[in-house]
Amino acid sequence: MASVKEAKSPGRTSTRQSKSKSRSRSRSRSRSRSRGRTSSATRKRKPTTSKPKQEKMEPNSPARAKARTPERAATPTRKSARLQNQSLAPEERKPVEFEASLEEEKRVSRTKKTEFGGAVGAFFMILGLPLLVYFLNFVCAKNKCKPVLPVVPLDWRSYFDIQAAAIYLGWMAFQAVLYMLPIGPVVLGQPLRSGQRLQYRCNGFISLCISLVAFGAAVYLKLPVGIVLQKFTQLITTGILFSFVVSVILYVQARRGPNNKLAPGGNTGNVLYDFFIGHELNPRVGSFDLKFFCELRPGLIGWLMLNLVMLTEKYNKEGAFPPALTMVVVFQALYVADALWFENAILTTMDIIHDGFGFMLVFGDLVWVPFLYCLQTRFLSLYSVKMEWYCLVFIGILNLIGYYIFRGSNSQKNEFRKNPYNPALAHLETIPTSSGKCLLVSGWWGLCRKPNYLGDILMATAWSLSCGFSTPVVYFYPVYFTILLIHREYRDSEQCQKKYKASWDRYCERVKYRIFPYIY
Ligand code: NDP
Repeated sequence: MASVKEAKSPGRTSTRQSKSKSRSRSRSRSRSRSRGRTSSATRKRKPTTSKPKQEKMEPNSPARAKARTPERAATPTRKSARLQNQSLAPEERKPVEFEASLEEEKRVSRTKKTEFGGAVGAFFMILGLPLLVYFLNFVCAKNKCKPVLPVVPLDWRSYFDIQAAAIYLGWMAFQAVLYMLPIGPVVLGQPLRSGQRLQYRCNGFISLCISLVAFGAAVYLKLPVGIVLQKFTQLITTGILFSFVVSVILYVQARRGPNNKLAPGGNTGNVLYDFFIGHELNPRVGSFDLKFFCELRPGLIGWLMLNLVMLTEKYNKEGAFPPALTMVVVFQALYVADALWFENAILTTMDIIHDGFGFMLVFGDLVWVPFLYCLQTRFLSLYSVKMEWYCLVFIGILNLIGYYIFRGSNSQKNEFRKNPYNPALAHLETIPTSSGKCLLVSGWWGLCRKPNYLGDILMATAWSLSCGFSTPVVYFYPVYFTILLIHREYRDSEQCQKKYKASWDRYCERVKYRIFPYIY
């Protein structure tokens, strides 16, 4: 599902990138110098196993720098081991089997571990999630918005329409063209298991601006933008069909591609499960990264566009912008704009580094986000909600607090992952791990283990509170979202336990609360 993510401003990126480039160049130079000293270095640079007491280090102290130093020499990557082998004199080289075993290690082995209830769970989700989107669409309709069985249209034309299909596919094509524009910084992703780092062009915010200008032009030219609301159900159907087709292609392509491109979690050998969870980690067509594209653009910007159409239609009908609706549209616009402004931070999120690209993410990005996340605005555009000004102020403050926590924590982690030596983060305590990475244990990440989820949940709650209490249907989003994030925290915690072992346990001992400080 679309994760909302952060990156730094396009303007600032290039400078930092060039800095980090020079840093990495100097690091690689020092690695090559130490090649001859490998064995002693290996002995010296044992993984740091300092006790929690020792974790408090002086900012910028040599000990701290050491703790933050990636322990590449201690645990040479397969790539560096192969390079070392190649750099030896022919008579000193290790046998060919050594190379072969390195290649073998890079293979993504079959996993027995499944999530979401395995193949059975995947089956029900593949069927159930699209039905749930239809259900909530019919439940929150013009005549009533109550959690009761809705009247379901039986005519197929209510579900499929060629014009709606053209609008949906046209929108996808428009966003794809914007994605391919050669503007915006190119950023490196996290290292893959092969040691390779993929390049990503971050022009999401520019795409958003162009989309907004296009929307403004359409309204100015009096084009019938309201058609997307009339054909809402048909758009949903197109999105669902499109997601199925894309997911099937992705699965088939992944099966034909090299093994080392597979997602470890989506390689069980069970067709249904791997199709759902995502077989390949970063499917690409040339340099067009399908997951990166779908995560933040067509669905997320599409959600904002639907909101703007609702606001425009409401204004055309009533001659004014209703406060509650306007407030939610503004808050959600901030959320979307933030995700695209900080676009490159998605590169350190679970969706990109861990989850494969399968039906779960494709459907989540292209159907769930645009057509379900606008539930509150759809309700507010269909019904008039009167709210006292102080209630609106309270909701506004709640949203801003949520945003502050969300942004602060995501940026802190992202900056730290990009550059653990960042002087702005030198005051933070960290726990070293045997993988070479450190874990933040103070600042936002000392408050609870997922401060970013906490901020997200507060914002989701604020959006629903704006709808008042006349129906529980509008609370679907924060309730579902809290369940999703609690489950996601478990999944991530398991992954981190696997990666960082005792260090993760120490982190969990230090930071007791998972998402809600002093509660959970
Ligand atoms: P995170 O951004 O929290 O990323 C998890 C990774 O961060 C871990 O695997 C680990 O990776 C690293 N990490 C965890 N703890 C620490 C620590 N203490 N110090 C340093 N690194 C740490 O999770 P998500 O990808 O799930 O979420 C990203 C954002 O997207 C969140 O704000 C979330 O609320 C939002 N989101 C929104 C959704 C939506 O539909 N609107 C859906 C899902 C998420 P490593 O150590 O390998 O770097």
